[in-house]
Amino acid sequence: MTAKHDNLKPDPLAQTHEVFNQARALEDYNAYDNDTALREAVRRHGAGWAEDRLSAHGAKTGSAEVIEWGFLANEHKPQFFSHDRQGYRVDFVKYHEAYHRLMTLGLESGIHSAPWADPKPGAHVARAAQSYLQGQVEAGHGCPLTMTFASVPSIKLTSSLAKEWLPKILNNAYDPRNVPHMEKQALTIGMGMTEKQGGSDVRANTTRAYPVAAEGPGEAYELVGHKWFTSAPMCDAFLVLAQTDNGLSCFLVPRWRPDGSKNPIQVQRLKNKMGNVSNASSEIELRGALGWMIGEEGRGVPAIIEMVAMTRFDCMVGSTSGQRQAVAQAVNHAMGRA
Ligand SMILES: Cc1cc2nc3c(=O)[nH]c(=O)nc-3n(C[C@H](O)[C@H](O)[C@H](O)COP(=O)(O)OP(=O)(O)OC[C@H]3O[C@@H](n4cnc5c(N)ncnc54)[C@H](O)[C@@H]3O)c2cc1C
Repeated sequence: MTAKHDNLKPDPLAQTHEVFNQARALEDYNAYDNDTALREAVRRHGAGWAEDRLSAHGAKTGSAEVIEWGFLANEHKPQFFSHDRQGYRVDFVKYHEAYHRLMTLGLESGIHSAPWADPKPGAHVARAAQSYLQGQVEAGHGCPLTMTFASVPSIKLTSSLAKEWLPKILNNAYDPRNVPHMEKQALTIGMGMTEKQGGSDVRANTTRAYPVAAEGPGEAYELVGHKWFTSAPMCDAFLVLAQTDNGLSCFLVPRWRPDGSKNPIQVQRLKNKMGNVSNASSEIELRGALGWMIGEEGRGVPAIIEMVAMTRFDCMVGSTSGQRQAVAQAVNHAMGRA
C-alpha cells in the first residue's frame, strides 16, 4: 500500500519531533535601548545629546537584516586577484556585497568622522558608542572604519596634504569603486607599519624612502620595501613608515599616482586569519610607490602614533563590543531555555 501525500499540508511523515526549549534568535531588537550600561555611560560622559542618533543606530544594528550582513561578510571571505583576465596587474580584493553594505552603514553614520567634523564635549563618547553598536554586528569591517577615523590627526600634521585629503576622508559616504582617489568624493585610509622582523618595534622597519626631488614634510618620495600586515588593502591610501637618511618617517601613499596610473603597491597574498575574516589583511611590496611625507623627517613614529593611538582606542571599544554581544547572546539563550 502507498501512502497518499497532500502537498498543501505538513507531511506527518516529515515530522520526526517537536522543537521546543530553544531560544529565539536575538534579532529585531534595539541594541542601544536595551543596553542599560551603555545608556548610562553615554549620559554620564556628556553625550546624552546623541541618544536619538544612538537609538536609531541601535535599531539598525539589532535588525535581522543588518545582522545577516555580518554573517554573510564572514561566510564569503574576501578574494584576491593579482591580475585581471587580460593579464594586467590589478591587486584587487573582491568583497561580498554584505561587507560593502556594512561599510556604507558605518561611513554614512559618520563613525569615521563625527568628532572631527563636529567637535564638541561628548563627541568622542557618542562616536565610540556608535562604533560599539556597529561592532556587535561584525568586527572585521571596523578595521577600515577605524583606520579612516584615526588617520585624521596624523594627516593634519601636514597642512598641504590635509587640505587635499581631509574633505574627502570626512565625507559621510562610501565609494568602493576601484578608481583613483581624484575621481572619488569619499575615501578610506589604511596603514602600513608592521614588517616581518617587527610589529611592536617599528623602529626596525627596513622599507626605504627616496626623495623624488625636494626633501621634507609634504614632499614626494618613492618607497621600496615590504609590509607584512596591511589590512583593508582596497583603502584609497595608506599611512606608511619608511626610512630616509634621517630616520623613520611617515608617508601618505595612495593606490594611484596623480597621472591615474597604478601606484606600485603589489599585494603578495592575503593572510589566512583565524578570525577577523571579513577584513582582508595583506602582505605587500612597495616597488617605488609614490608617497608624500607626513610630519617631520625622522619623526615617523610620533607622526603615525597619532593614528595608532586612535586605532588602539578602537581595539578596546571593539573588544568590549564583542564581549557585550557575547553576553547579550548568552542571556538571550539562557532566557529562552528551561
Ligand atoms: C587583525 C590584524 C590586523 C592588522 N592590521 C595591520 C595593519 O593594517 N597595518 C599594520 O601595520 N599592522 C597590522 N597588524 C599587525 C599588528 O600591528 C602587529 O601584529 C602588532 O604590532 C604586533 O606585532 P607582532 O605581531 O610582530 O608581535 P611582536 O612584536 O613579535 O610581539 C609579540 C609579543 O611580544 C610582546 N612584546 C613585543 N615587544 C615587547 C617589549 N619590548 N616588551 C615586552 N613585550 C613585548 C607583545 O606585546 C606581544 O605579546 C594587524 C594585526 C592583526 C592581528
